[in-house]
Amino acid sequence: MIVVLRRDMVAHPEVARLCERFDTAPTSVDGQVLVITSGSIQALPPEFAALAERVFVTSSDVQLAHRSFCPKRTVAVGTLDFGTRVTHVIAGPCSVESEEQIDQVAAFMSGLGVRLLRGGAFKPRTSPYSFQGLGHEGLRLLRRACTRHQLALVTEVRDATHVDEVIDSADLVQVGAKSMYDHGILRAVGRSKKPALLKRGFGTTLKEFVQAAEFILCEGNTQVMLCERGIRTFEHQTRFTLDLCGVAYLKEHTNLPIIVDPSHAMGYSYGVADLARASVAMGIDGLMIEVHPRPSEAKSDAAQQLSFEQFGELYDSLRAVARAVGKELS
Ligand code: PEP
Ligand code: MN
Repeated sequence: MIVVLRRDMVAHPEVARLCERFDTAPTSVDGQVLVITSGSIQALPPEFAALAERVFVTSSDVQLAHRSFCPKRTVAVGTLDFGTRVTHVIAGPCSVESEEQIDQVAAFMSGLGVRLLRGGAFKPRTSPYSFQGLGHEGLRLLRRACTRHQLALVTEVRDATHVDEVIDSADLVQVGAKSMYDHGILRAVGRSKKPALLKRGFGTTLKEFVQAAEFILCEGNTQVMLCERGIRTFEHQTRFTLDLCGVAYLKEHTNLPIIVDPSHAMGYSYGVADLARASVAMGIDGLMIEVHPRPSEAKSDAAQQLSFEQFGELYDSLRAVARAVGKELS
């Protein structure tokens, strides 16, 4: 249950009693003061009725992200608004590998008209013996390339050791599939009020995914986007399975902008363009694609990254797909 407090009641002593009753605390979201309880609470006790401007009750713990609470949220990454008529493309290498590599990608993207550059500096690898990313140096190189080529910077926070630095440097903070359950990261991103891109864990149900977003939202940060990146199924011929049914579910039931990452879902460059077009045809708010100047030499995810030529062709083809579903490509 969400109780939207009346402005003139925010400081009333009864608010403390209400919070005590439901073991919660007031939180400021969208300029309103809310008291959010567990979703299992289905009614505001009549004695507190005078405090409430509005009471929202739902059957689950998806509350701030629920479309019946707030029909639609937009997320502003610098001057770029997600959750509008525009589908934004986020592209770049899996990992930042060198100054030359990231600058080459940034120059290419900026020339094409892409506005957001991705690149991992802190890589959450499956093996401790694989390339772990350039860390702080990678973040610095990414920042420099984005500033030089006027691109918004999208990068992942892997763990608590560098959460503040990533929040400071990034224009859009990515919380990856493997960190989706890290409540320390989710709450830190929530407190920061920085735009966040939350990726779905590969063994995560849609409900758990949206509940993870609620951890960011309930800290007062409504600048959250959901990214479908493939889930693990019985099928092993592709790296993961892109859950487009899940995308339809999220569009129908949540108010958050939706991004799709076909690169990590497919795991092989050959399927990425088709999946990207299929995703854009669903009217999504953003697309994330991995691109490398020399994919076969990439230090991580070499098989799935597109070359400049492959990405250029894909980007060209997306414009018509977006237009066909009433969207504009950026
Ligand atoms: C990434 O986007 O760099 C990444 C590691 O993806 P995911 O968290 O979806 O595995
Ligand atoms: Mn990758």
